[in-house]
Amino acid sequence: MIAMTYIEPGKFALTEKSRPRLENPRDAIVRVTISSICTSDLHIKHGSVPRAVPGITLGHEMVGVVEEVGSAVTKVKPGDRVTVNVETYCGECFFCRHGYVNNCTDPNGGWALGCRIDGGQTQYVRVPFADQGLDRIPDTVTDEQALFVGDILATGYWAAKISEITPEDTVLILGGGPTGVCTLLCARLKNPRRIILCEKEEARRRFIRRHYPDVLVCTPEECREFTLANSGHGGADVVLEVAGGEDTFRLAWECARPNAIVIVVALYDQDQVLPLPQMYGKNLTFKTGGVDGCDCAAILKLIEEGKIDTTPLITHRFPLSRIEEAYRIFENRLDEVVKVAITEG
Ligand SMILES: [Zn+2]
Ligand SMILES: [Zn+2]
Repeated sequence: MIAMTYIEPGKFALTEKSRPRLENPRDAIVRVTISSICTSDLHIKHGSVPRAVPGITLGHEMVGVVEEVGSAVTKVKPGDRVTVNVETYCGECFFCRHGYVNNCTDPNGGWALGCRIDGGQTQYVRVPFADQGLDRIPDTVTDEQALFVGDILATGYWAAKISEITPEDTVLILGGGPTGVCTLLCARLKNPRRIILCEKEEARRRFIRRHYPDVLVCTPEECREFTLANSGHGGADVVLEVAGGEDTFRLAWECARPNAIVIVVALYDQDQVLPLPQMYGKNLTFKTGGVDGCDCAAILKLIEEGKIDTTPLITHRFPLSRIEEAYRIFENRLDEVVKVAITEG
């Protein structure tokens, strides 16, 4: 089978690999029907994910059909259509039992697929701890509707879940890329008074305005004043920092009102400064990333009920054989790309 492979920093290539086999009774083999490309894949390429292992197959966003299961797998069976969770977790350790699956203590715990073990930008993928990592897609939900459940939608859901948003709040989301949109969709379900989304790229601002007309949109340059003018108490009650840009961490805490909650969803390429003397007395609460992606079943239910729809994010479709072209378009943000769907073939 063909697989998009991390050769070395700066270099990905489509290579030929043998089909994965079950290695553990808790494994499943999934035939990938659609995968996608994530900004985190580009972080691997640019060397900002030191844990990434050269030689592995990339891809941690995928849906597929269960092909084979190990003897200890009980939740799914061959033929089931499933979402695959970005995170591998045992379900039994201290962190898993508390829902902090990102910090699962298993050697493969956390983000392993497409980073430390072979991922899904290929035809077949081995999923460890299949009972934790796979969720059945309801019959009325299509593969494309379910594509982002295991990664960016799980991230948005997690961010909204820990954000403590109330109906009185003005929520500021920094970043209108795919994860920003997923965060927006999940934050909306908490019915805050107002959502402001700040995005530097004009095409993305247009995308937000077109699809989510109830959301106030601004640029980073006008963000401070805009947030102040559109909130009740000197800033946003909740800030969700999804952008991960050079100055966006600063923007996040500057736009927050005193005693606000700031959720850092972004994965930065650089260290960030926490200027405590400057923010002294503002009494902010920070919650930092990565996603505890263990709510896929709940997200699938919201999709089934029509409360979340991420299909507008899919702007481009390519067969697996042309994934290198898909990467070129995604990496260079050509043709107003938001997300690509990589299909079989
Ligand atoms: Zn990702
Ligand atoms: Zn665990």
